Amino acid sequence: MSKIRRIGVYTSGGDAPGMNAAIRSVVRTAIYNDIKVTGIFRGYEGMIEGDFTELVSRSVSSIIQQGGTILKSARCPEFRTPEGRKKAYENIRYAGIDALVAIGGDGTFTGAELLSNEYDVPVMCIPGTIDNDLYGTDYTLGFDTANNTVIEAIDKIKDTAASHNRLFFVEVMGRDSGCIALNAGVSGGAEAILLPEKETAIDELIAMLKTAKARNKTSTIVIVAEGNKNGGVYNVAKRVKERFDFYDTKVSILGHLQRGGSPSSFDRVLATRMGYFAVNELIKGTPSATVGVRGTQMVTTSLEEALRSKELKLDEELITIAEVMNV
Ligand code: ADP
Repeated sequence: MSKIRRIGVYTSGGDAPGMNAAIRSVVRTAIYNDIKVTGIFRGYEGMIEGDFTELVSRSVSSIIQQGGTILKSARCPEFRTPEGRKKAYENIRYAGIDALVAIGGDGTFTGAELLSNEYDVPVMCIPGTIDNDLYGTDYTLGFDTANNTVIEAIDKIKDTAASHNRLFFVEVMGRDSGCIALNAGVSGGAEAILLPEKETAIDELIAMLKTAKARNKTSTIVIVAEGNKNGGVYNVAKRVKERFDFYDTKVSILGHLQRGGSPSSFDRVLATRMGYFAVNELIKGTPSATVGVRGTQMVTTSLEEALRSKELKLDEELITIAEVMNV
């Protein structure tokens, strides 16, 4: 096992609150262990262009509370080609980087796996995405913060819904994953939750809304994950209104505000643990992997397993609980 002298760290793909806290943790854990750190700007794009900076402990002062990523992020088609990855490798070798920490989602991990297999560079991946849709961890960075943002919005929408007897359709992020919709729906007390993973026919939704009305509910909120199969939140609202027009119907799309904001305490602690764990795994000589939290334990999962396993992350019991809460 050769000693690691310099680690490169980058953020790539979709940004998420908590990425800065993870960068800070990687930098400080490395420096604590006498390892130097290179910050790579704009993910694989910066790796191909050699857009690097030296990171010292003070470079990451007061970033733990900031959303976004100080290293910026990018989508880089060139990295999908062997020529692009060769350029990236030459730059990281030239900079004396022995190992990498990648913070991002499954696209970022796929790029990391290719680089690691083709050039024998160890890469420790930190799952950063608000969608909570990555295998190998119970929670991804940013998920908790995004949920808190969504329920703050739902609470406000509920005030106006209750005052005007309105039916609100609130679209939240989640193209393939209903994790935000389900968690925010339960914690925001929504009357119905439409998930990408589960078909809910409009008939079924109308039946739920009629039941809610019969139970004298003063406000009605339907959470719609953006990837729900009913064809978008406006379409859902229109189809419901055609057949159930008791309420004044409104649509609210929360959009990219779910990606930003100061990370929650949970995400800051998770990011700090993940950064610390990732650097220590590299020091131990663990082959390329993703880090994660399972229960209370930090774990690694090989990239091979993390990228090819199919695991339903949605908690079926929570779906049932959401229904029960509408009694
Ligand atoms: P995320 O990491 O959030 O899933 P993307 O899917 O956009 O975001 O991936 C981030 C970057 O990772 C891409 O822009 C690309 O540079 C790299 N990447 C994604 N998929 C591949 C792939 N199949 N081969 C090589 N690089 C990839």
